[in-house]
Amino acid sequence: MANQNLPDPVTFSDRACRGVDQDFFFPSDAEQKRMVRRFCGGCPRLAECADWAISEVLAGRLAESFVAGVQMPQLYGKTPRQKRRENAAAELAEVAEAARGARMEGAA
Ligand code: SF4
Repeated sequence: MANQNLPDPVTFSDRACRGVDQDFFFPSDAEQKRMVRRFCGGCPRLAECADWAISEVLAGRLAESFVAGVQMPQLYGKTPRQKRRENAAAELAEVAEAARGARMEGAA
């Protein structure tokens, strides 16, 4: 169950996207999407960002953009909206877990 009281990543002064144009997180082609994923993959707040986004996307407060390197659900599509949100939340959970694992390996 996602914690809905997690801090919004914009409050982290060490986040990689501080000062980055928001348009960057709305990539229009595959190469730009890869760039966003790589960018977020190097963010020191990746785990916290992904954790925060889980409840946000499930509540329908995130759409279209990339958050924590994960594509948020499109507003329209064949797959039911709630299913699209759940898929994004599942991907965010994997990102958060992997980021925590990488952090622990780095600290060992
Ligand atoms: S993971 Fe990406 S979107 Fe989240 S705080 Fe870091 S740079 Fe920003």
